[in-house]
Amino acid sequence: MSWVKELARADIVALQGYEHAAWEPELTRLHANELPWRAPGDDSRAGLNRYPEPQPRALIERLADLYGVAPQRVLASRGSDEAIDLLVRAFCRAECDAVVVCPPTFGMYTVAARIQGAQVLSVPLKVDDGFALDESAVLKAATASHVKIVFLCSPNNPTGNLLDARAVLRIAQGLAGRALVVVDEAYVEFSDHESLAGHVPRHSNLVVLRTLSKAHGLAGARLGALIADPEIVKLLRKVIAPYAITQLTIEAVLRLLDRSGRAAFEERIAMIRAERSRVSRALAALPTVSRVWPSAANFVLAEFRDAVTALARARDARLLVRDARGYAELGSALRITIGASAQNNRLLQALSS
Ligand code: PMP
Repeated sequence: MSWVKELARADIVALQGYEHAAWEPELTRLHANELPWRAPGDDSRAGLNRYPEPQPRALIERLADLYGVAPQRVLASRGSDEAIDLLVRAFCRAECDAVVVCPPTFGMYTVAARIQGAQVLSVPLKVDDGFALDESAVLKAATASHVKIVFLCSPNNPTGNLLDARAVLRIAQGLAGRALVVVDEAYVEFSDHESLAGHVPRHSNLVVLRTLSKAHGLAGARLGALIADPEIVKLLRKVIAPYAITQLTIEAVLRLLDRSGRAAFEERIAMIRAERSRVSRALAALPTVSRVWPSAANFVLAEFRDAVTALARARDARLLVRDARGYAELGSALRITIGASAQNNRLLQALSS
């Protein structure tokens, strides 16, 4: 048996996936209990009276091209949130298996694990080392046989730092055949580092999560891409809802995500990065701010002497920022998304008043 089948839940490996209605667009569809007419005003290309193509081929090819990987390594999901959930559901048995997370980090890894009834083992990032990965502690924790997935986030939310790619690959190497190493790269386009997606063919237990929600400005479309060994993709296709990606999303993404938009994309990333530097410097100069962490993402984490007052000042100026005080590893911190220049100015003004 392959290592993927050994690692995954045996009942999912054995599961006969749902057989969705055959996708043969050239034939008349009298097999899916749809209505033959479009709803009045439906101006979609394919018609919303029809179920969409499951894991649509053109969309998968577009994502594969965007991320520089083979299409059979791509699973399209409803945002990377869903990819996280699918991984935990397919690989972790309730009350038996575990995932490793490195807090402070994105909360969905723990939420998905808890929903599935999986145990969550925490190996905190090293606060005194700029939230660096504790490589040996991760390897040690993940060596336990019931650990199925290690979730890493780079750049990390909410701290903004990149994890050392060599350490991530060493962890993947060390856990080869024994656990998945999932690297969530939701914010990687804002950094000056390459995605680890190119390493997936060499490390079959490495899974990379990408999303169109951040740098591509398509959070409302809900589209993420999981990049992994084709056998993992195949397994997750049994677990994902058959028509997960809506026709509206398929059409919008195919229209919006073409090469002609590349220059505008690069320009926007450059603007966010420039604003990130400016906002970071301006925050660091405020007497109310005790620390601004360097960021490779489209947000900055700042520690305030009095976060309650800072939150209130932002709200008075009708601006929302994220209260990060709930993270046990952080002090009085707020996570601030980098907006357009005028929005950032409003925030800086509110916080300095
Ligand atoms: N990963 C990280 C690190 C995130 O911060 C987020 C969104 N906040 C997600 C994944 C989920 O993104 P989406 O589901 O929109 O792709």
